[in-house]
Amino acid sequence: MSPSNVQVDFAKIRKKLIHRALQNLARGAGVRENFESQLERFYDLLEQALVTGDPAWLDAVIFDWVNANTQTDIAEGQKNATNLLNILFTLTNEVARESLNKGEALDMITAVQPIFTYALDKAARLEMENRVAYFANEITSVQQKLEKLDRSKSNFISVAAHELKTPLTLIEGYTSMMRDASASPEANNMDPLLRGVRTGIQRLRQIVDDMIDVSLIDNNMLSLNSQPLWLSHLLDLLQKNLGETMQERRLNLETRKFPGSQEWLYADPERLYQAFLNLLTNAIKYTPDGGSIIVDGRTLPGFVEVTIADTGIGISPEDQAVIFEKFGQLGRADLHSSSKVKFKGGGPGLGLSITRGIIEAHGGTIWVESEGCDEEKCPGSTFHVLLPFRTESSDPRLSKLFGDLNKPEGINVEKETRTDPPPA
Ligand code: ADP
Repeated sequence: MSPSNVQVDFAKIRKKLIHRALQNLARGAGVRENFESQLERFYDLLEQALVTGDPAWLDAVIFDWVNANTQTDIAEGQKNATNLLNILFTLTNEVARESLNKGEALDMITAVQPIFTYALDKAARLEMENRVAYFANEITSVQQKLEKLDRSKSNFISVAAHELKTPLTLIEGYTSMMRDASASPEANNMDPLLRGVRTGIQRLRQIVDDMIDVSLIDNNMLSLNSQPLWLSHLLDLLQKNLGETMQERRLNLETRKFPGSQEWLYADPERLYQAFLNLLTNAIKYTPDGGSIIVDGRTLPGFVEVTIADTGIGISPEDQAVIFEKFGQLGRADLHSSSKVKFKGGGPGLGLSITRGIIEAHGGTIWVESEGCDEEKCPGSTFHVLLPFRTESSDPRLSKLFGDLNKPEGINVEKETRTDPPPA
């Protein structure tokens, strides 16, 4: 039989082939949009390959099918193009046997077999090449991540060393002054010197505590001591405790009463205090003297959202992507200062990562909005904290109390938490 006879037979079964393929593959894996037109194209090219005896006619369609594999397909080792070609070959055999006489069917199968063998080999090779390229990329990106981690770690060591050295120098200075003072015959008041030593020790403790917190968060070991609390109480306490600093820096801190701030939350008061203190300390640090910080919020279904907006220098979009990562903002040892609240006095770069760890441990989330960093125009930054209203505690007694307290007939929250003076 000449190729043209096979071609004639092929034309006879082509419609049925496409129909069968559509039936078999309509819901199968690897089926893409416009599948019918893709099949038409495949059989056009298969026909050309039959006529010319050159299977390379199928290259274009094989290439397209291989490249239609998604990154997930490649990662999972799915060989969609090879599988599809295998199915099409089986269907061609089936339909040829059903629709042609024995001799014609045998000729047809003999003619298409080398073309499919070529196509399968080509698809398998291309799919393997894609997989190799995918893993090479993965290895490069892991390498880049490791390099970044390595850089972060050396940065961390240099900044941590700087951070630890500052209070140590302070302690050293004060203790040597105390030594001199105790050797002097005149009676000296040691109080200011002792206070200096204490400040240094407190700062050291804070840095070491931050490091411990980061490691607890990293190892998913941050345990919460949750209890019912009012956000308004926590925020009022912060406002009170930061009063002196605000005065020193001539900043105005306004804590608003917002919907949700006077509803019971089930959370760890110490950890939440720490998280909000970090955010407020940052707002103080990055806002020039005379600026303002507003704490506000609202309720959302199932959540309370707290916002901390400052009129500070703002945060560039690139930095917004990294500041919540630990060691994200390291490398400026020159900015690092022993003062927690000095304008732009950087810290060890762990505060926001600890804050995020605490908020996430509560089932919440945190993000920042800022138009960018500009020390002249001061566009400001707004940190958003979303916390779930947990109405259930693992302790049934607390859960009961908690439920009762949030009921309208429970304790009068409004009355209990009123901090503004009564109307004259
Ligand atoms: P640090 O100890 O350096 O303050 P944080 O983790 O608390 O570390 O903050 C990381 C970085 O995020 C800071 O170094 C600063 O660049 C940026 N940042 C945080 N809060 C603010 C803010 N309110 N305004 C401007 N920049 C901020």
